[in-house]
Amino acid sequence: MSKRGLLIVLSGPSGVGKGTVRGAIFKKNQQFSYSISATTRPMRPGERDGIDYFFKSREEFIQMIDQGKLLEYAEYVGNFYGTPLDYVNQMLDEGQDVFLEIEVQGALQVKEKMPDGIFIFLSPPNQDELRLRIESRGTEKPELIDERLNKAKEELELMKHYDYVVVNDTVDNAVHRIESIILSEHLKIKRVLKEINDNE
Ligand code: 5GP
Repeated sequence: MSKRGLLIVLSGPSGVGKGTVRGAIFKKNQQFSYSISATTRPMRPGERDGIDYFFKSREEFIQMIDQGKLLEYAEYVGNFYGTPLDYVNQMLDEGQDVFLEIEVQGALQVKEKMPDGIFIFLSPPNQDELRLRIESRGTEKPELIDERLNKAKEELELMKHYDYVVVNDTVDNAVHRIESIILSEHLKIKRVLKEINDNE
């Protein structure tokens, strides 16, 4: 059997900069795969179906749940978000490291199902910074900004279930920290021995 990839789960409150950090990691590291999520959230300006998300109706999403097509899913500020299972398994089987960028409830479901995953929590340097980032993004209505900030507080409380915390003080720092985590995880003795055993 060839080497199986690592599942890397990146979470963190809305506005913390997960997308930016992930984008910077992918620019430097072409070997990673990104699992595109399905969502019932309306498309934001500039987003593209099949690139940013697979945009689904509520009925379509519920059908995906019923057919067991999602590794995990969660409702977040009134919309469903979920990870298509087949893509993740296929990439891991091909030996590719796969990134999931998902909220905390979903990440905890993944941890139950795939405990070998690497769970990284991206945290803001401070709370004020979060509000500033969500407001300056300008994509959310004011009432939804407060809802997202409340959610952020809940998420910070669940940080303890993760393996690593990375502070996003600057994108470069966060990228460097995450790359170091992934490298170390690949070098862990239990993984290296498993690869040797699988190849024998
Ligand atoms: P946004 O609406 O800002 O794109 O995403 C809202 C939240 O949903 C973010 O924390 C994002 O990481 C999370 N999210 C995106 N895709 C998924 C997914 O497939 N599953 C889960 N559980 N959360 C997701």
